[in-house]
Amino acid sequence: MTDDRYDAILARARAHALDYLHALPTRRVGSTASRDELIAAFRTPLAQDGESPESVIDLLAAQALRGATACNSPRYFGFVIGGATPVSLAADWLVSTWDQNAGIYVISPMVAVMEEVAGDWLLDLFDLPRESGVGFVTGCQMANLTCLAAARHGVLRRVGWDVEADGLQGAPRINVVASAESHITIDVALRYLGMGTKCVQRVESDAQGRMKPDKLRALLDTLEGPTIVCAQAGNVNTGAFDPLREIGEACNAKGAWLHVDGAFGLWARTSANARTRDLADGIELADSWATDAHKWLNVPYDSGVALVKSREDHRAAMTSSAAYLIQTQGAERDAVDWVPDFSRRARGVPVYANLRALGRAGVADLVDRLCARARQMAAGLAEEQGVQILNDVVLNQVLVRFGDDDEMTRRVVSGVQEDGTCWLSGTNWQGKAAMRISVSNWATSGEDAERSVAAIRAVWKKIRG
Ligand SMILES: *Cc1c(COP(=O)(O)O)cnc(C)c1O
Repeated sequence: MTDDRYDAILARARAHALDYLHALPTRRVGSTASRDELIAAFRTPLAQDGESPESVIDLLAAQALRGATACNSPRYFGFVIGGATPVSLAADWLVSTWDQNAGIYVISPMVAVMEEVAGDWLLDLFDLPRESGVGFVTGCQMANLTCLAAARHGVLRRVGWDVEADGLQGAPRINVVASAESHITIDVALRYLGMGTKCVQRVESDAQGRMKPDKLRALLDTLEGPTIVCAQAGNVNTGAFDPLREIGEACNAKGAWLHVDGAFGLWARTSANARTRDLADGIELADSWATDAHKWLNVPYDSGVALVKSREDHRAAMTSSAAYLIQTQGAERDAVDWVPDFSRRARGVPVYANLRALGRAGVADLVDRLCARARQMAAGLAEEQGVQILNDVVLNQVLVRFGDDDEMTRRVVSGVQEDGTCWLSGTNWQGKAAMRISVSNWATSGEDAERSVAAIRAVWKKIRG
């Protein structure tokens, strides 16, 4: 018996998907429809009677061509946005097809095992303690939250306080330290965890955005009691890494929990190039690490990973069964023990598929290729009169300033967005307006980089006059 209710609609979706994907390398990168136009396309009173599934899918597909930014275009350099490799996209289709609730083993033995293996592969690839706990979450925001929840549990457990049972009211005070340049999601995680943002003691950072280790040591000397330090591998503007070995040693000496936000920077560990790998030297001294798979690994949204050295602290902070119970159910892995979600998508599956298809060498090549493209773009832009590269291009991020002028720089950014050859955004780096280029898409070729540089230079020449 066949059920052909799926055939026509999925064939249509597949055809639309291929149209979209095939247009990516050539289409204008920015979107073209205004909010009003999109409202006109989408907003109707919710009708009493529904429409045909085919017409609904056709509507979505038609609007995507003008209403979606091609953020998986090989010439999209905004924020830090990966694309999706063909195998990870295909795996993601299967994830939706299977419609597994991947929260507990019993519902999806296959997904539980794939996520267990993918977690082991990641620890191996990043060369982090192999016994660490792993949670597949929606992104680095939730990875930071998961890791800091484990940290909160761990530092309070060591002073005899059970935060899971007794909460934070009346608990020993936790010192929270982060660099002046830590990502906003660290603050958000601290808010969710009831610690607030005012508690954060900021450590000064240098011109590249790296935490100053002597300032950290001086601060740690003044602190007593439970302490969490948040460091960073990969500054969202410059790509710079905090000096992790020095920071790790200082934290270990003090008994502080070191958490590293490595949303994209953690992938430097997989590079075949010693100079890139060394950026993250000492990262293994930390207690927890947060990263994204939807950025540098190029799996579809949404996909992040939380890694915690102490499985006990990780599990105690996340488990949906009673905290402190010894795991008795055998070797089967229940995802609910490692992530904030209960019911959840099988988001570890595209990670598994992509790692399996790429292999170690493929991951290293992905990382090194994008770093090379970033250097290529920086070099191509620096040749132009009046263009300044503000950062050391150590990874995939480039900060560019035009005419050493805020207003001109902003005009170049909007001019490039308008031109449509590529898309990127602006930022403010240490008081100066800058253009941000993030090379994070597996498909970005040397030619894409070259075309984009030419388009940026052309916009700048026009503005310069
Ligand atoms: C992107 C990013 C985050 C947040 O990650 P999401 O996947 O967007 O939740 C956190 N930290 C850094 C350094 C980032 O680049």
